[in-house]
Amino acid sequence: MSKLSLCYACGENEADTMDHVPPKCFFPKNSGLKLMTVPCCTRCNFEFSKTDGELRAWFSLHYRASEVGKAIREEKVKSGTFLRNRKLARKIEATIHYEIKPNTGGMIILKQGIVEWEVMNPFLERCTKGITRLACPQLNLSKAEFNVFEIAPHTTYDAEIEVLRNRCRKSRKAGCDVFSFQGNLDTETLSNGVLVMMFYRAAIFGVRWRLPDQSN
Ligand SMILES: [Zn+2]
Repeated sequence: MSKLSLCYACGENEADTMDHVPPKCFFPKNSGLKLMTVPCCTRCNFEFSKTDGELRAWFSLHYRASEVGKAIREEKVKSGTFLRNRKLARKIEATIHYEIKPNTGGMIILKQGIVEWEVMNPFLERCTKGITRLACPQLNLSKAEFNVFEIAPHTTYDAEIEVLRNRCRKSRKAGCDVFSFQGNLDTETLSNGVLVMMFYRAAIFGVRWRLPDQSN
């Protein structure tokens, strides 16, 4: 079996489906965008659909979410996911905290939820595996070690998000209102790299990886 016919996520099973990276449900219906797909096994594909709804809710509820994110929040999360899954709605609503910020027109109240890292980490690792499978197929990350970090310490958050937003605007890439990434795919050493991903222009995460030592 060729490496490329194996599932991009587990690296073990034969791929018999295609998975969207990032998930298709993050995008508006009939967006006209050509979304990225990677070969995936049925088992992984099924598992992912469970957490995708939760993460879509979390990203789109973020107060900094882009217009597309806000539309997804109203159309798919509040009048879809949360109605079908009250338990998830209560869980997310319980983590929402409020922040009052002054702006030129007066005080505004912003709200933001908190997602569990146990949900976020596997999702970001999987996106990283998917993107690298497409961008750099010879790089096999199935046995890599990952390190996920949020690029949002409160002190520098505004500056960093502004830089990324400007990059998005400049690149004018289709879909960047939903998802954008930039990477440092080090194909020379194939040993480590980092991808930075942003969802609805709201949440920014970095993922570093390291391949197992191949000398032994
Ligand atoms: Zn799999």
